[in-house]
Amino acid sequence: MIFSKTFWIIDRVAEIKSSKKGQNQKIDSVLDMPVQYLKGVGPKRAALFSRIGVATVRDLLYLKPRKYLNRKDIKTIRDAKVGEEVTISGEIVTKGITETRSGKLFKVILKDDTGWLELVWFHLPQLEYIFKVGDTLIASGKLTSYRGIKQLVHPEYEIISEGKTPWRAGRIIPVYPATEGLKPRFIHRIVETALEKTTGKIKESLPTYLVQNRGLLKREIAIRKLHLPDTMEEAEKARKSIAYEEFLYFYLNLLSYRVEPDIVGIPLRGQRVLTNQFLRGLPFELTGAQKRVIGEIEQDIKKDRPMHRLLQGDVGSGKTVIALYSMLRAVESGYQACIMAPTEILAEQHHIVISEMVQELNVPVILLTGKMRKKEKEKALQEIKEGRPSLIVGTHALIQEEVDFPNLALAIVDEQHRFGVLQRGKLREKGAQTAWPHFLVMTATPIPRTLAMTLYGDLDISILDEKPPGRTPIVTKWVRSSERAKVYRWLFKKIAEGNQAYVVAPLIEKSEKLEAEAAIELHKDLTSIAPEGTKVSLIHGRMKRDERREVMARFRDGDFQILVATTVIEVGIDVPNATIMIIEHAERFGLAQLHQLRGRVGRGAKRSYCILITKGRVTDETRMRLTALVKSNDGFEIAEVDLKIRGPGQVFGTRQHGLPEFKVGDIIEDREILLWAREDAKEILKEDPTLSLQKNEVLKERFLEIKRRKVLYVA
Ligand code: ADP
Ligand code: MG
Repeated sequence: MIFSKTFWIIDRVAEIKSSKKGQNQKIDSVLDMPVQYLKGVGPKRAALFSRIGVATVRDLLYLKPRKYLNRKDIKTIRDAKVGEEVTISGEIVTKGITETRSGKLFKVILKDDTGWLELVWFHLPQLEYIFKVGDTLIASGKLTSYRGIKQLVHPEYEIISEGKTPWRAGRIIPVYPATEGLKPRFIHRIVETALEKTTGKIKESLPTYLVQNRGLLKREIAIRKLHLPDTMEEAEKARKSIAYEEFLYFYLNLLSYRVEPDIVGIPLRGQRVLTNQFLRGLPFELTGAQKRVIGEIEQDIKKDRPMHRLLQGDVGSGKTVIALYSMLRAVESGYQACIMAPTEILAEQHHIVISEMVQELNVPVILLTGKMRKKEKEKALQEIKEGRPSLIVGTHALIQEEVDFPNLALAIVDEQHRFGVLQRGKLREKGAQTAWPHFLVMTATPIPRTLAMTLYGDLDISILDEKPPGRTPIVTKWVRSSERAKVYRWLFKKIAEGNQAYVVAPLIEKSEKLEAEAAIELHKDLTSIAPEGTKVSLIHGRMKRDERREVMARFRDGDFQILVATTVIEVGIDVPNATIMIIEHAERFGLAQLHQLRGRVGRGAKRSYCILITKGRVTDETRMRLTALVKSNDGFEIAEVDLKIRGPGQVFGTRQHGLPEFKVGDIIEDREILLWAREDAKEILKEDPTLSLQKNEVLKERFLEIKRRKVLYVA
């Protein structure tokens, strides 16, 4: 079955990535020439170039400088300010290697007419042989200060020999992404060769009216100025012009796949027997935000076009109720509805909670997970295949080949950020053969709006921006392991007062086994120090399903008070009476992950606590992470901090989010340009859907090229 355009685009990205290797690209211009054939490159260096994503001459032209060194503006050492990017010129007065605890440190003292500073390199003792006392040096970098001494750490430098003018003196020098074996100067030279070779051969790719409207540079000029700018402003303008072009073609491509007219959905218009009874039976009043979002979903699912909606709501904002309401709407209209969770334990919890909530309604609830016993699984598969109106809860198992949903009208993905791109798309494919199921993806990870747009095209977005009432904010404290004993004394006191707690064992990346062992160890430890009457239990990913299920059920019933856990409890788990979360080795967790874990408490009216215990010295980054958590309970704020600390590449890695990667454009930094491109693409397609107007001739030509090459955009 065909994907919706969103999944089409997301899947295209994955597809293109996987097909890039070994692809036999047709060479139809010098731009497509492999770099290997440029003078001075050859196969060995071509292999090195491929590490920085450069295969062809075209790639070289679009190789984005990491930064620019402004050699027009050489600062005196006295005037150079700490914290700024500066270029200094001076003479080497002394040099030497110091042994430190973390290894060898090479230092050069550089002096000009106004003062002196240190150049410092770690682990590069071989530099000793490169610099000579008396050499004149130009060095650039961010000026720092160590014990009151001005320093440039790992600066870019150039040794100026007698009687020779410095390379590109008084100019702006681009610095390209570094890779071992390719000297920056060499990359620079090859880029210049590429520019020479392509002079006059770079076709204009934007209609004049767009270039003028948006005040951009023509393409050939933009490319030239990206590498050889005369001013910093020019470099910036060049970068923006190219970014615009990339974004524009991306959007033209994306938006041209708008829902095609022949795609039908399944209108859900049954009598409100179940949903009404469900709402009446809820032990609480829906929040205003929940009501609003339910309204938005209602509007979508009664239409005969498939809903396609993203629901963002912070941890604990009450997404499950909304999911269940929508699913019941499908059931009372005579169809199947399913929800896919990223972990076994969350699927099991959904199964339990949903079964409880619909007890009175007499609706079948079917569970399907990978770890089920064969017999149970076959039974579930059979029931699903029969197609009776029912609620189906599961994990990735739902998207396996063998699962057949003849009557699916609504598919929900919970905690969508935990799923791979293809998995998400596959669920949607599972619908009835003639129509598409309505589709809802839920996430607690807030995605800045512009990013969401890039990511999902014109997917509709609902936001749950209100927490259920009567909740007191979680008190978060960060303590050092030296205070661990004190923390646990406090914990036992709180337990005696009737609270329940999670204690999370240290994260051990990529090893469920070691992580389980750490939890077992911690469980032993706590059991031995817990006072009489305080019961401690354990849950981890290596336990059998039935055991895990029982542990969770008993915890919910209050049979024991402390649950030692691995990260299996990270998402979705909901036990309102649990009010304390202790995280051991908090320095090992990411910000989003800590926020999710903390979200397991603060789900009832009682005051909740989250204690982060760190061991040893923490890095500045960790300090920023933990401080952000202590300061804020708000997922959106935390996401912003995360963006600042790690950058969009890390936070919204393509693997998890299916974001397209641009060569020059940066979806965060060039946010404004992104919006321009989107707006323009919409306008263009509205006025000229087939790009047949004379003024759009260039667009059409390039667009066809995109299609022909099966890429998202051409640069
Ligand atoms: P999440 O958005 O993180 O998935 P859940 O759906 O698990 O949140 O809801 C968190 C808790 O809040 C659950 O115990 C749920 O029953 C409760 N809850 C949801 N909506 C409301 C409401 N309107 N009033 C009070 N409690 C609510
Ligand atoms: Mg949830």
